Amino acid sequence: MMSGKGTGSYTIESLDHRPLTARLDRVRLTGPLRVTPPPYRQSTGWRASGLGSCLRQVGYRLLDLPATHDTYVPSWTLSADIGTTIHTRIQEQLVGSGLAVLVGGVPAIEVPLPAGAPVTGHVDAVIRTNAGALAILDVKTGSPREFVPGYRYLGDKQQKWATQVHAYMAAFYLPDGEYAREAYILHISRGDTADRHLFRIVWQPEAWARDVARLAAAQEAVAAGDLPAPEPGACRFCAFRQHCPANDYPDQLEVQS
Ligand code: SF4
Repeated sequence: MMSGKGTGSYTIESLDHRPLTARLDRVRLTGPLRVTPPPYRQSTGWRASGLGSCLRQVGYRLLDLPATHDTYVPSWTLSADIGTTIHTRIQEQLVGSGLAVLVGGVPAIEVPLPAGAPVTGHVDAVIRTNAGALAILDVKTGSPREFVPGYRYLGDKQQKWATQVHAYMAAFYLPDGEYAREAYILHISRGDTADRHLFRIVWQPEAWARDVARLAAAQEAVAAGDLPAPEPGACRFCAFRQHCPANDYPDQLEVQS
């Protein structure tokens, strides 16, 4: 087991995925793929899945400012469809294996925050670990390059996921008041679903408090009709980078005159 910090402030453990995935069948991409819009069009409001990204991006969406990639991109849609299919297969297998204690019944959550607009999210599964702990399980799909040893952006992704699962851990509890205080990220390749990572993230209240403060400042800015402060670092993936003066990625989509 490895342990360490990525580029952000959460501590993340890398585990052997086999004790978990041995209880699941190999994920098969069979059956019809669902048609969904590109991910950036799915996001409305303040979503737990977006909290670990630059919150200025969320501001661009909420203020309805134009995106750079405001066109239909088939490859993005296919990628989202494959991801959705893998999620569905995993959830079916979690239920079939008896590993998940709650799937589908209480997936939609609203994150309790001191003030501001609600943050909503959707939990993939809640499980009991062998040690008896209540835990969030979130499935992430990624391109095959994310599974090449030393992939340079994996640490950034882990930090983003850590923020998301902290929102879930802050929000989710059983009727008797038991909270999930650990989360697992099952990261699966969309290219070969046998390629997997498993990460464990325990509840880290100080780091989460910093994210809550970021969010409060961003929500205050949007409520005033302003864009939140830029948080460059992943501008290469940002649909608004051609409009943002803080863009740190030299754009390759220049208009030819
Ligand atoms: S270009 Fe960079 S700083 Fe600007 S909104 Fe996008 S991610 Fe944030």
